[in-house]
Amino acid sequence: MEVLWIFLGLPALVALILFWPSITLRRALAQPFPASHAAILARHIPFWREMAPPLQMQLKRLVKQFLHQKKFIGCDGLTVTDEMRVAIAGQACMLLLNRKTGVYPSLRHILLYPSAFVVPRTEFGVGGVVTHASQTLAGESWNDGRVILAWDHVQQAAFEREPAHNVVWHEFAHQLDSESGHTNGAPLLPSKNAYRYWSSIMAHEFERLQQEAEWEIPGVIDHYGASNPAEFFAVATETFFGRPLEMAEQHPALFELLQKYYRVDPRAWRGLA
Ligand SMILES: [Zn+2]
Repeated sequence: MEVLWIFLGLPALVALILFWPSITLRRALAQPFPASHAAILARHIPFWREMAPPLQMQLKRLVKQFLHQKKFIGCDGLTVTDEMRVAIAGQACMLLLNRKTGVYPSLRHILLYPSAFVVPRTEFGVGGVVTHASQTLAGESWNDGRVILAWDHVQQAAFEREPAHNVVWHEFAHQLDSESGHTNGAPLLPSKNAYRYWSSIMAHEFERLQQEAEWEIPGVIDHYGASNPAEFFAVATETFFGRPLEMAEQHPALFELLQKYYRVDPRAWRGLA
């Protein structure tokens, strides 16, 4: 009898373990979106009220999934609140609207510092010279399932309607970039042709930004994007969502490429499209 129970019970147990994440996710998604969370989205997404109701619904669903699947860890004594969790989830999930995609499937943890944090850096120079230094950051994205953010920088997004910088969009663009297996400025795309078209536009625009940075010519895209193709994609994402009208005017081909990828037109949320 005991043997029979093991024979029948073990597969059932394995099935339960396998399906448990989707069972709990379905249950979480079935819960109503709390009014307090909607109020947080309205506070931290300046153009929330201009977003069409179906898009708001989509974002709320993505936020529910994000909050269910990701763990927030307060660092340097920070106590993580609902305000922080929902604000970050809301901004991060804007990059997923209208797209058939998972919710950052390899991301597990968001480490949150109260303000900019210092990270050690080791550099290997010519002749094997090793230099140890430190760098102060507002955010960092890792391809091992972590994003690190400074809460005071995240909050800044709530104050500006046309932000030049948004640390959440920046770091989560890096997460999308890394889903292709390499963090190199090209996220997952549907075909070889799409990659070819992507790299032709991106390479041209990256080169243009490098020249602008070298000659200190101001433009809508921050010169930090000239560091390398991965930073270019992250910075261009910030500009696309933060300053869409200027970007569409100054970089129409890049704007159109990102519009195809992100499947939204952020100009519409400012009454501009
Ligand atoms: Zn970056």
